[in-house]
Amino acid sequence: MKYFKIFNSCKIVKGASQALIYDLDRVDNSSPIPLDLFEILTDHKGKSVKQIKSFYQNQYDSTIDDYFRFLEEREFIFYCSEIEKESFPEREFNWNKPNKIINSIIDFDRSIPISEYRTFIVDLYSNDCQVVEIRSFVKLTLDEIRSFLKHFDYTSILTVELLSMFNDKVKKSEIVELLDEFPRLKKISFYASDFSETNGVINYSTNKVVPDLDCGNVDPKYFSINLDTFSEAQKHNTCLNCKVSLNKVGQIKNCPSMDKTFGDFRKVSIQNVLDKNEIKEDWKISKDEIEICKDCEYRYACTDCRAFTDEKSNKYSRPSRCNYNPYQGLWKGENGYVDVITRIK
Ligand code: SF4
Ligand code: SF4
Repeated sequence: MKYFKIFNSCKIVKGASQALIYDLDRVDNSSPIPLDLFEILTDHKGKSVKQIKSFYQNQYDSTIDDYFRFLEEREFIFYCSEIEKESFPEREFNWNKPNKIINSIIDFDRSIPISEYRTFIVDLYSNDCQVVEIRSFVKLTLDEIRSFLKHFDYTSILTVELLSMFNDKVKKSEIVELLDEFPRLKKISFYASDFSETNGVINYSTNKVVPDLDCGNVDPKYFSINLDTFSEAQKHNTCLNCKVSLNKVGQIKNCPSMDKTFGDFRKVSIQNVLDKNEIKEDWKISKDEIEICKDCEYRYACTDCRAFTDEKSNKYSRPSRCNYNPYQGLWKGENGYVDVITRIK
């Protein structure tokens, strides 16, 4: 007899109205499934199709056949013998990285001279930071962009992304040269531009953006389905974990949009802030603890914004910019959608 096994790269997460098979190797292959298929895959794990049909007294044979055809076609499962079953142990999803900081956002509006940011960037580098996003509220000149990027020379920071208000004096050809000159610069985006154009690396948008207010949107296009995020999301906040940021007046924060501050970077070192541990409190809030999100099948793919939530005084409150109702399995705009807060009240 052959027994079904779920591939180790596939993980099923139950929500209130449906479940989601996360294909952690092939993002686009991930798929929602109905709850009765979730039941088959979890309560009858490792059984043969014949045993499953028989459990349901052969009342649902054709549905079960359809389900298994779907699972085979999408390569979520394979079959093996009784002896082979033991050769495929369950995968564990432990997230553990040695870095004290992984990413940072630096907001900039010329309140502080660019030269003064070098200390903060070196401090990030000393704490193993890998990714830094610079968000400018003003039209950066080419010289300003270059001055910022030079601060990253001789550091081990791998990726710098830049978001700036569009400046028509900065030509696209000059940006292309910058990308060559500063290999850490992986993405540069301009908002409030005269035109829209994107290639993923150099992006122009006509949208008017306020960098610290226009963040935290929840949309499937921002979901991250991969082993790293899935593992991290089990016990951490996937936006704030190991994040140390600066707002535009130089206050150290988890993220620039949050209220809590940990001192001015010109007076307090990152090490000092990390030693006090307070900044780490939000790092450990996982989606399993967040109201409503804990009932959502997308909870290990979705960023957990803690700056914009339904109830400011409740640290476990849902991200307010979410337009998904997990109790209906519907996104705003879909037929019958009801805002989840309205529905709960
Ligand atoms: S907590 Fe929210 S506002 Fe802050 S960086 Fe994350 S998504 Fe953006
Ligand atoms: S309910 Fe929570 S986990 Fe689900 S999509 Fe919205 S914010 Fe993300």
